[in-house]
Amino acid sequence: MEIDGFRGELMAPDHAEYDTARAVWNGTIDRRPRLIARCSGAADAAAAVRFARDHDLEIAVRGGGHGVAGAAVCDDGIVIDLSAMRAVWVDPANRTARVQGGALWGDVDQETQAHGLATTGGIIGHTGVGGLTLGGGIGWLMRKHGLSIDNLLAAEVVTAEGTSVVASPDEHPDLFWALRGGGGNFGVVTSFQFALHPVGPTVTAGPVFWAADDTADVLRFYRDFVSDIPDELGTVVKLCTIPPLPVIPEDLHWRPAIAVACCYAGAVEDGERAVQALRGFGSPLIDLIAPKAYVAHQWGLDDTVPHGWHYYWKSTNLAGLSNDAIGVVAAHAHAANSPRSYAAMFHFGGAVARVPHDATAYAGRDVPHNIIIHGAWLPEESGEMEAAETAWARGFLEALEPHRADSVYVNFIDADEDDSRVRDAYGDEIHQRLAEVKAKYDPDNAFHLNQNIRPE
Ligand SMILES: Cc1cc2nc3c(=O)[nH]c(=O)nc-3n(C[C@H](O)[C@H](O)[C@H](O)COP(=O)(O)OP(=O)(O)OC[C@H]3O[C@@H](n4cnc5c(N)ncnc54)[C@H](O)[C@@H]3O)c2cc1C
Repeated sequence: MEIDGFRGELMAPDHAEYDTARAVWNGTIDRRPRLIARCSGAADAAAAVRFARDHDLEIAVRGGGHGVAGAAVCDDGIVIDLSAMRAVWVDPANRTARVQGGALWGDVDQETQAHGLATTGGIIGHTGVGGLTLGGGIGWLMRKHGLSIDNLLAAEVVTAEGTSVVASPDEHPDLFWALRGGGGNFGVVTSFQFALHPVGPTVTAGPVFWAADDTADVLRFYRDFVSDIPDELGTVVKLCTIPPLPVIPEDLHWRPAIAVACCYAGAVEDGERAVQALRGFGSPLIDLIAPKAYVAHQWGLDDTVPHGWHYYWKSTNLAGLSNDAIGVVAAHAHAANSPRSYAAMFHFGGAVARVPHDATAYAGRDVPHNIIIHGAWLPEESGEMEAAETAWARGFLEALEPHRADSVYVNFIDADEDDSRVRDAYGDEIHQRLAEVKAKYDPDNAFHLNQNIRPE
């Protein structure tokens, strides 16, 4: 099979690398596309879209391939694979970076930190910039510098017609609005331009772990602690087993625990002051907060969620951390069967909450916390363990029902949710506006392998 004007690599099922190229982060996804079009640039992406439309092929777009739902790969159709497009160009004078659509956050951090700069990205280095940014983008720096989309200055997009356009506040502003939260619904983004900020390169960062038995006490303390912290301090709670990382003594490996991990986006000494009370609470099992390179902090958890394990997620935004909500979290978080499963809670507020609700397509700026319930097990454990972790995640979410906010982060929705969950992610007003932009840029819903917005 050939594609007119395509210079990248085409992989059909008989290609030696086909099986590697069709694999995504979540090892439960096992799909066999008819063709994988590994693009070398925006022109290839445009040629591939035109080819797919002409031949009536279903289109999947692969950024980092990290989406838990596996939308980056399809059965039978074509995968427009951006994984060879990972370049990052930094303009230190203007504090901006241009990032290709298949880059990972590790690529961005590596290049921007060479200049002491950074922008809000995910907390795992091997997550794709594409999917993460298009859904909103939450991470350590968001309370100080906003979501990834709040730092997006422009994007180059291949539309459903197979033409390249620039979306920015001045060009196609409706498309630019929709790209900032609306996911992969509106085209293939071949490059992103981000605003950067001085960060580090050394920051006060890391986790403190307490025993799982202390979960409720730690969460009650944490709720009060984060009610009065500077915007510079980003925190994530992890309810997990202690990962078997080389920096952690072996006798603690796999022990059930609660961790509060943090990163202070400011001077190291200010960070040390900001986390003092946290480090002083109760009797930690281990305290790994220290001055460290921002990039090292960003990569610190990469090995705890490797490619190829089997994953199943549930998530919701939370209305707050009442004592009852904390009781539910404490009762369920450590009841998973797999030591690889965990729950994590991001803390919002700060710059995220100061952006007006309708400025972008991301909803849920007003929520204080979310929770992601992250079932994880080894491929050889599928069967009983899969059933157990799926039931655990579902039961946990169900128990949280009275404590849920109306919204959910669109990037944390797994494949078994129906359309109503996508509507929940946006709320009626933003969803309607997204549907109208979709009708203008993709009236046939060619880009539907995503958290889909139907054209209206
Ligand atoms: C371990 C882990 C940690 C995570 N941590 C965070 C976090 O800290 N913060 C956060 O906000 N999210 C986080 N996420 C969620 C993450 O935002 C989503 O998984 C996101 O979809 C990943 O983007 P990707 O490009 O790797 O995904 P892919 O699977 O490649 O794509 C996901 C969706 O986005 C579309 N897409 C991807 N790239 C493009 C593009 N260039 N143009 C058009 N459409 C595109 C795809 O078609 C697909 O529909 C995490 C996910 C995992 C698995």
